[in-house]
Amino acid sequence: MAGRVGVALVDSCTVLHLYDTATRSVRELALREPGKVSIYLCGPTVYGPPHLGHGRATLVYDILRRYLEWTGLDVRLVSNITDIEDKIIERALREDRPWQDITTKCEAVWWEAMDAVNFERPTDTPHATEYVDEMVEMIGELIASEHAYVTDDGVYMSVESVDDYGLLAHQSVDDMRSGGGDREVVGAAGKRHPADFVLWKFATGPATESDPSWPSPWGAGRPGWHSECVVMSLDLLGEGFDLHCGGQDLRFPHHENERAQAVALGKTFANHWMHNGFVVDAEGEKMSKSLGNVSNLLDLIELYDPRAYRMVLLQSHYRSPVKITQDNIDGAVKALAGLDAFAARTADLAAGAAPDAGVLADFGLAMDDDLDTPKATALLFDTVRRANAALDAGSGESARLAAAAHVIASTFGLELAVASEIDGEALALAQALDDARTAKDFATADALRVELQAAGWTVETTRDGTSLRR
Ligand SMILES: [Zn+2]
Repeated sequence: MAGRVGVALVDSCTVLHLYDTATRSVRELALREPGKVSIYLCGPTVYGPPHLGHGRATLVYDILRRYLEWTGLDVRLVSNITDIEDKIIERALREDRPWQDITTKCEAVWWEAMDAVNFERPTDTPHATEYVDEMVEMIGELIASEHAYVTDDGVYMSVESVDDYGLLAHQSVDDMRSGGGDREVVGAAGKRHPADFVLWKFATGPATESDPSWPSPWGAGRPGWHSECVVMSLDLLGEGFDLHCGGQDLRFPHHENERAQAVALGKTFANHWMHNGFVVDAEGEKMSKSLGNVSNLLDLIELYDPRAYRMVLLQSHYRSPVKITQDNIDGAVKALAGLDAFAARTADLAAGAAPDAGVLADFGLAMDDDLDTPKATALLFDTVRRANAALDAGSGESARLAAAAHVIASTFGLELAVASEIDGEALALAQALDDARTAKDFATADALRVELQAAGWTVETTRDGTSLRR
């Protein structure tokens, strides 16, 4: 890992500031223990393939983690696997399969996709199934302290028993009652308040291969999703951990309800709440048929350079909604080709140089300002442009600038290819392919594409030309 070379003076006065959903303000990420950051990221429910939203909700925090590590902090990132949940059981029953068959296979697909987008594996990946005893114990404590109650179909949390319930929703418990919660009241006859949520759901029959249940003092059943994360986060990270994060859709009710259980037990929960924006579909955009249908992350990374999605996300602020369009994916592929060419040109030059301190200081300032990756990415491209110009002019500052650009790219988690990995023969075929396309000789272009693919290359052709990768 690259250190924060040459910015010691700046380092002492820059601290990461992040928007905190609870206070609705950008504030300093205070650390419970100096030098260490504890983060809980809600992981996937493993019942289907990862979609683009899942990809964003991991890549945003992967970039955050890499940045924090680059600043010299020791990051512990806990991200769970939800392997007990209604959607898993619904699918198992519908397909008449053992539920573990679904969770095991879907988890394998999850990691395949995450590895492909270069997501650094979390420090810990607890599974809900490993924590059922602890969940039963916690629910028992909530009942004993009269924060939870037993009904015909399960054990429920009383939200009115938690003083500041609604902190993340920015809504009072009374407003939730008048806010049209009637539908939920109908759903569970014994609920005292529409926002009361299930901690333990009773089994409706004996356990089967598709419909699992676990014993509890109140009857066999399974834990509610909100009880899973609060138990795993507190068990692994302890009280008052630094940062709890996830997609905007988890803010309420999931995160509110995790927090309510901890608060009810008198435990300090997360100190800071971070939520990323949605991936929205690009309605009205003219898009290629192939990309227009892509919502599965694996499909996107099969069609395009897997780094392209990370690049699109870097160019968007994490709190803003992001559209995935043909234009921004093409733009990202082109930008990566430029960075690859730059990396190839400067690999040796940058290796022996101290990175430009001014550039790295600006990088830190942008990232410390609520993770302003669009600004930091613009800085990367500007530094590449300056380094290339300095090289062309034979200026001595080219090595320092190149080294700074390499540091930023690596901190972003962008692994740059060096052109020497692509042999001359393949490059010549790619050039011939572009020439054939320009001449509208599509038969020759197709034959050249097949030849390159047979040699093991993934061939991507955009309107800016052909690029190759293994
Ligand atoms: Zn969670």
